Amino acid sequence: MTTSFEPVIGLEIHVQLHSKTKMFCTCLNGMDESCGPNSEICPRCSGQPGTLPVMNEGAVRLGVRAGLALGCQINEVSSFERKHYFYPDLPKSYQITQNAHPVNGRGEIEITFGPKDKLQKKKIGIHHAHLEEDAAKSSHSGDYSLVDFNRAGCPLLEIVSMPDLRSADEAYAYLTEIKRLMQWVDASECDMEKGELRVDVNVSLRPVGQEKFGTRTEIKNLNSFKAVKDAINYEIARQTQVLNEGGQVVQQTLLWDKEHGFTKPMRSKEDALDYRYFPEPDLPPLILRKDRLEKIKAQMPELPAAKEAKFVALGLSAYDAGVLTLTRKTAEYFEQVLSCGAGAKAAANWITTDLMGLLNADKKDIGQSPVAAADLAELIKLVESGKISRNQAKTVFEQMYKTGAKAAALVEKMGLSQVSDEGQLFAWAQEAINESPKAVADFKKGNRAAVGALVGAVMKKSRGKANPRRMNEILVELLGK
Ligand SMILES: [Zn+2]
Repeated sequence: MTTSFEPVIGLEIHVQLHSKTKMFCTCLNGMDESCGPNSEICPRCSGQPGTLPVMNEGAVRLGVRAGLALGCQINEVSSFERKHYFYPDLPKSYQITQNAHPVNGRGEIEITFGPKDKLQKKKIGIHHAHLEEDAAKSSHSGDYSLVDFNRAGCPLLEIVSMPDLRSADEAYAYLTEIKRLMQWVDASECDMEKGELRVDVNVSLRPVGQEKFGTRTEIKNLNSFKAVKDAINYEIARQTQVLNEGGQVVQQTLLWDKEHGFTKPMRSKEDALDYRYFPEPDLPPLILRKDRLEKIKAQMPELPAAKEAKFVALGLSAYDAGVLTLTRKTAEYFEQVLSCGAGAKAAANWITTDLMGLLNADKKDIGQSPVAAADLAELIKLVESGKISRNQAKTVFEQMYKTGAKAAALVEKMGLSQVSDEGQLFAWAQEAINESPKAVADFKKGNRAAVGALVGAVMKKSRGKANPRRMNEILVELLGK
């Protein structure tokens, strides 16, 4: 008999904080290989004897902003410790990190997952989020390895979740939300290609209904959302098989082989590292005075969940509200379109389909949109007032996107203005009725849809300049006589 198991998943996410300089020295942060290896290093971040760390206030501020976004309890006093391990990418042979007293304590975020028309929400606990410095980057080739210290000492925030996730899809949604929040509050750019967001995953199984956790494995250093999802699904299947065959899951650290799609052991807990944590003697405790914290809070933008709720209250679907709050820039663009007088649903529609379609094809983000928010609002208002049809507006919009010209000017230039002269509209309607006896007969038999054929005939006659909504009314009126 096979048992049903419930997966228990926890994530540890390292995000590189987007400060100007490194965590404990004044070298520039975020220099990658393109700047040349070991070009942004100093005696401190390369671990020379006799150097002392100096805390970077900007990085601390970003770490606290991140903590606030994660709903964390911000600790007034936190402290740094040394975490020892011997590895070529760690010049001091220890990493300065927060262990017992992290700056950000318990928190909670809400994730959204599931199909578009059946979105589910779930709260996921944050155990804590602590500050630390990054290690250098090693690259291995043949029988030698190279180390680039540009990354050594860059500020990281490690976000540790509670074991609240139950599937790869939930983990994916959690990652998406963490990335959105970190970008939203400018804590990190989370560019995964540059390694600015790296993930360790813990997976264990327990029989459904059992409270006690099973033995877990840890998959280290995943650097894409897809890898996280694939590795979790693989590990769930692997552990299920081991348990169903009467075996035991071995507690070990694994690596994900993304080319071949399986996990392989990195080290087992028998040789678990003893990090010999002890307080960092060269750094005083980090004290975050209340007035200081209040100042950071005052500078926080409205968070995406609050914006989403606002957008839903305007009548948008939860899905559209989610799309419009994927980035802060998108939400702000949408709000600007509204503030220029466009309707919420129309604005959402234009942005999530037409504008994003063109931007995605060009690999641009909304901040680079050739159509300014005010100009999109103008176009929407031309449709709403019946001056042009939605179809005509689409053509105008494409021209606006291509040329940067304004909507009204293009409508004029393209000769698209709809005819609203009632005399002309009635004349066209009467002509169409005279020319289409079959549609008229169908309509009189009770087929109200037959009016569509007449509207179509008028649109042809008017070369698209008749307002179809008004034309429909006129035709129904004439046919009713
Ligand atoms: Zn340095």
